[in-house]
Amino acid sequence: ARKEKEDAKIEGAVQIAIGIKKEVDFAGWYTNVLIKADMLDYYNVSGCYILKPWSYSIWENWFNKEIRELGVQNSYFPMFVSQKVLEREKDHIEGFSPEVAWVTRAGQSDLEEPIAIRPTSETAMYPYYAKWIKSHRDLPLKLNQWNSVVRWEFKNPQPFLRTREFLWQEGHTAHLTKAEADTEVSQILDLYRRVYEELLAVPVVPGVKSEKEKFAGGLYTTTVEGFIPTSGRGIQAATSHCLGQNFSRPEMFNIVVEDPNDPTGQGKIYVWQNSWGLSTRTIGVMVMTHGDNQGLVLPPRVASVQAVIVPCGITAKTSDADRKRINDKCDELATTLKKAGVRAKADLRDAYTPGFKFNDWEQKGVPLRLEIGPADLTKQQTIGVRRDNGAKAPIPLADLASAVPALLETIQNDMFKRAQDTYFERLKTVTEWKDVVPTLDNKCVVVMPWCEEEACEDDIKERSGKSAEPQDERAPSAGAKSLCIPFDQSRWPAIEPGKTKCTACGKDAKRWTLFGRSY
Ligand code: AMP
Ligand code: ZN
Repeated sequence: ARKEKEDAKIEGAVQIAIGIKKEVDFAGWYTNVLIKADMLDYYNVSGCYILKPWSYSIWENWFNKEIRELGVQNSYFPMFVSQKVLEREKDHIEGFSPEVAWVTRAGQSDLEEPIAIRPTSETAMYPYYAKWIKSHRDLPLKLNQWNSVVRWEFKNPQPFLRTREFLWQEGHTAHLTKAEADTEVSQILDLYRRVYEELLAVPVVPGVKSEKEKFAGGLYTTTVEGFIPTSGRGIQAATSHCLGQNFSRPEMFNIVVEDPNDPTGQGKIYVWQNSWGLSTRTIGVMVMTHGDNQGLVLPPRVASVQAVIVPCGITAKTSDADRKRINDKCDELATTLKKAGVRAKADLRDAYTPGFKFNDWEQKGVPLRLEIGPADLTKQQTIGVRRDNGAKAPIPLADLASAVPALLETIQNDMFKRAQDTYFERLKTVTEWKDVVPTLDNKCVVVMPWCEEEACEDDIKERSGKSAEPQDERAPSAGAKSLCIPFDQSRWPAIEPGKTKCTACGKDAKRWTLFGRSY
């Protein structure tokens, strides 16, 4: 490490950066960025990674406060689930069973019955929902937990995007009516959209999943779908499910109350349930969207350091008094900025050159660098350098407390706008099958009129899997699947019942649907 630091100093550091180009080897670039930005380290169990403070701080966002305002309370359920309970809902377990990890031994002795590690907590929680919900007055019940779950995935693991253990929040709520459950499903989905768009500056398309892609055992699944431009693949960014009464019915968990509106007092209502989850995948999508060949690029709202102040123009000839004057100024500016609500830091490490520091903070994605040297001090200014586009401009020191927050807002908005333009450009409207595969091969996703039949979806996957391009064998499958049926259908011409045909099979189309290769 020592030698690396020396080399970086000698080279002025700027050009070495990430070492692998994003456009050339995306997977290699991605892991290099994560390591060099100090977000992540590898772990000696495959598919598991360590989240270091630089990435974990992004995970601690405002979502918790928002759900509290919706009346959701945090709680914690154990990570172990008995086999009997886990397997109660047939469709549910069918969806998850290939990925469930089991504890079979304690010390030297085999367990009498193996115990599952939760892949999600419906089955761990709902026996207790049945116990706790005795009357309609106990509704709604809205619990959330911040925890980790284990899904022993066999697809190529990727840090944050697909890991075997991942952090998430899982919300589980029970309601008296379907209408109430429906309302909450969309409220939560909108919070997820805002986490991506307003915090991470990552555009998403909200919509509903096809029957094939919905949550195992649920009634319907809503999703926000992201897009990774470099690979041209879609990614399921977060999901909010309505479980309907599938888990509450008598042969399942039997979560039932008396119908308060039934005059005979005999009527029963099986509760309506939702579950919803957002995982650390968020961080991976953000890195892939904004990162460049110099490293990570953090949107200001989630950066734990938003502005770094670097003293410049100090040489061997600089007097101790001048050196102190500049360093003191850097400290003073950091204090001013902190008072103005900016997460600022003065980098006064004197063992490193400014060039090394520039490179270091660029790799770590800090949104704004403020350079200050003797000449700047004379002019009472600092040079601001934006991480997102490299733009440089002087900022008068007198304006700092207002100019920097404003500039950070501009950076945040510009990053979102750029990412959104890219997504929309690469979201192609297609109405003829012959255009589907070439469009996918061009690293785009397609929106087409679709019949919404499962057999047609299987067929699309099959027919789009034969790409002209050679595929990396570790890459996720080449076949396209439905990503979502966007809620906002008004962006495309109205589907005419009986007239507009499914692009894939020619039957009557129902809605415009987003299809793509995906993670
Ligand atoms: P699900 O319960 O399957 O709907 O998952 C909820 C959310 O967790 C998904 O929308 C994904 O964004 C995320 N997710 C699912 N599997 C993984 C994984 N292996 N690693 C990281 N995030 C995941
Ligand atoms: Zn069709």
